[in-house]
Amino acid sequence: MEKLPETMAEVLVPWYEANARDLPWRRDPTPYRVWVSEIMLQQTRIEAARGYFERFMAALPTLADLAAAPEEAVLKLWEGLGYYSRARNLRRAAILVTERYGGALPADVKALRSLPGVGEYTAGAVASIAFGLPEPAVDGNVLRICARLTCCADSIGERKVKDAFREALRRQYPAGGKCGEFTSALMELGETVCLPGTPDCEACPLADRCAAHRAGRETDWPVMPYKAPRRVQRRTVFLLERNGRIALVRRPDKGLLAGLWEFPNVEGALTRSQALRQAAAWGCAPEEAAPCGQAVHIFTHLEWHMTGWYIKCAAAPDRFVWTDSAQRAEGYPVPSAFRAYKALMK
Ligand code: SF4
Repeated sequence: MEKLPETMAEVLVPWYEANARDLPWRRDPTPYRVWVSEIMLQQTRIEAARGYFERFMAALPTLADLAAAPEEAVLKLWEGLGYYSRARNLRRAAILVTERYGGALPADVKALRSLPGVGEYTAGAVASIAFGLPEPAVDGNVLRICARLTCCADSIGERKVKDAFREALRRQYPAGGKCGEFTSALMELGETVCLPGTPDCEACPLADRCAAHRAGRETDWPVMPYKAPRRVQRRTVFLLERNGRIALVRRPDKGLLAGLWEFPNVEGALTRSQALRQAAAWGCAPEEAAPCGQAVHIFTHLEWHMTGWYIKCAAAPDRFVWTDSAQRAEGYPVPSAFRAYKALMK
């Protein structure tokens, strides 16, 4: 493996200053705004995160507002973004920062890392972008760039590879400031130029220093870690309706989609008669059933293949909350796994 080129910051920082996209979190990059944006962007595309970020900041403009907000309100702002533990951890971390640091995020990587939901990458991003510290933020995009620059033969999933690139990058941070710009430049390059399948090497400021480009084999890198195939689970989702109200139920506090609200559902692809029997077992006194479509939702390690049944009910057992459309819009965060069925409700 070749070494990372020297003095990357000399090239990347001016390139970034000339080419940076106008993103909402880059305007007024306070520690709070940088932190929230980095958490939001962990599993969400930039275009999808923009609107959520602006809505979140309008509702909770300061860390103190976030610390004081009820959990349901924060989850509602997160509704549709997925990976809801991020939202819970943000709120828990805001409470801790209020208690431990008087409401100001600490300008220290170790202290940042001690906060719920803040890993190596996020701590590095906040430390460098918000506080100007020479701390790399190494995610999949940055690893891809580094692997291509050096023709790294090892998998970027290996700890030693990540650590080696982080230390090599740390040595490249500019001494006289612009640490945040260097971090942002690497992110920007990975998101707009050094793309996974179609790197735009013509537009790359590092093209003349890139080993993969010299070899004309850019997409041979990075070497990716082995990924186990996702498990497929069939589920049946029930739109139980009683007098215009739809049943929702809260998921358990731990595990997948913890604490969020969902349409009642069970494992397996139930037929009409099985679905009616299930609704009867819940005490709903089902009157009629109609199919309401198939849907697939993909989690990191799991796929839900869902079959939907709309069932008109003569009883409304209180094992469920029977909601009208205003309540569903205001108070019950229903994850996007049920997007297809939520759309039917409208
Ligand atoms: S030259 Fe191409 S492969 Fe190399 S870092 Fe730039 S965009 Fe990526």
